[in-house]
Amino acid sequence: MATGTKTEYEPVIGLEVHVQLKTASKMFCGCAVQFGAPANSLTCPVCLGLPGALPMVNRQAVEYGIRVGLALNCQIAHRVKFDRKNYFYPDLPKGYQVSQYDEPLCFDGELQLPIHDASGQPKICRITRAHLEEDAGKSIHMDGSTLVDLNRAGTPLIEIVGGPDLRSPEEAYIYLNTLKRNLSYLGVSDLSMEKGSLRCDANVSIRPKGQEKFGVRSEIKNLNSFRMVRAALEFEIKRHEQVLESGGTLTQQTLLWDDEKQETRSMRSKEEATDYRFFPEPDLATFDVPREWVEQVRATLPEMPEKRLLRFLDDYKLSEQDAEYLVGDKALADFYETALKLMDEPRKVAAWVVGEVTRELNDRNAAIGDLKLTPEELIELIKLLDAGKLNNITAKEVFHAMVETGEGAMTAAQRLNKLIVQDDDAMNAVIDEVIAEFADKAVADFKAGEEKALGFLIGQCMRKLKGKANPKELGPKIAARING
Ligand code: ADP
Ligand code: MG
Ligand code: ZN
Repeated sequence: MATGTKTEYEPVIGLEVHVQLKTASKMFCGCAVQFGAPANSLTCPVCLGLPGALPMVNRQAVEYGIRVGLALNCQIAHRVKFDRKNYFYPDLPKGYQVSQYDEPLCFDGELQLPIHDASGQPKICRITRAHLEEDAGKSIHMDGSTLVDLNRAGTPLIEIVGGPDLRSPEEAYIYLNTLKRNLSYLGVSDLSMEKGSLRCDANVSIRPKGQEKFGVRSEIKNLNSFRMVRAALEFEIKRHEQVLESGGTLTQQTLLWDDEKQETRSMRSKEEATDYRFFPEPDLATFDVPREWVEQVRATLPEMPEKRLLRFLDDYKLSEQDAEYLVGDKALADFYETALKLMDEPRKVAAWVVGEVTRELNDRNAAIGDLKLTPEELIELIKLLDAGKLNNITAKEVFHAMVETGEGAMTAAQRLNKLIVQDDDAMNAVIDEVIAEFADKAVADFKAGEEKALGFLIGQCMRKLKGKANPKELGPKIAARING
């Protein structure tokens, strides 16, 4: 490289994502998994870490783990083995966390991202491993003292470790959204960052472009949203560049993201695995994972988003944007496909779901399951519109009322008195009235060849008919009347 040329760096990013599994009970005891219960009410000798208490493995948690692994195209281990990861923390009463060290339940998987690499192939991020572990409790810092709530202690988690394959903060952001979308298809977690059921640690290093060897990495914790992950990575990449450009050296460390100051600060130098003194959990025997079990779980997997997206594009001829949007929310895509069974017009139905239905969801900050609207009711409405019983404007008004009250389309349209009754006499009377009223203005303009005067006359008729007419039908009628 010529002297004086600034080195160009390439970021290398790998993410660790913790996902709380929504089993009824905890990983190793019968206590309920529940958010927001009174502090320490969901505890027992096992999850309190009392001496002599014996853990038992929650079969459902292992099954959810297999489900996640299969959805991420992982290999599934032939046996389940747990290890102790020793460290001291006030919210970890046993002094160790039960996790999986050398035999993760799932390994060698991959996640396909909706972006392309330089050769035009879909970008793939390897999933190095996904292992089961128990969550710790929560420390609550209050007025200078710290309280501990152990309700969360022992909640099953799966930690999904992504390969160092991401090359920009934006790719990391896309990886997280794609991972979350795929997991949402499995129904194994709430996936709420707010409630802590989805957590992410980000690892990042930089290297001169073209160099194969990775640089020294930082691990960033305390990232409470995907947006924060992206911002923290951008900050950290710049910091690494500045250190290297000024001739300094980087040390491997764990950092916390301060979202207010928009900067990272050091938490500790990074521990090595040896610091945890992992060893096999003596209180839990290993047990086999029969291949029949794995195949049973595989058979219950839903169609995953990558496949569904292709089907939406091929079969329904949706725009890429609409297809991506629908597939991004399994419940909404299910709603859409149920509606399609009642009306085989994929683009028309999609326009409603992506348009008005989504507007209502956004206004209410709700999910489709919370909305008082069934696919049947939506199709009933679209059919009224198609039959000319509603126009584009009144259909939206009726739709809004349906969502508000839970009424069907016909009921709401009748209650609001929006149905267009095909009364030609009434319509002709109104047309005559309007033509008389604007004879020397709009009507004269229209006769003189001004097309937009017709729009004005349609509007006047619509007003007198209280919106209960189809403007597309009114236009030709008015024109015919004027032209004699
Ligand atoms: P540990 O268990 O110490 O956290 P791992 O080797 O399991 O370390 O890696 C954890 C995460 O860090 C993975 O997501 C991996 O992709 C990522 N990673 C590892 N080395 C680097 C690096 N040099 N730069 C960026 N990310 C890295
Ligand atoms: Mg780690
Ligand atoms: Zn318990």
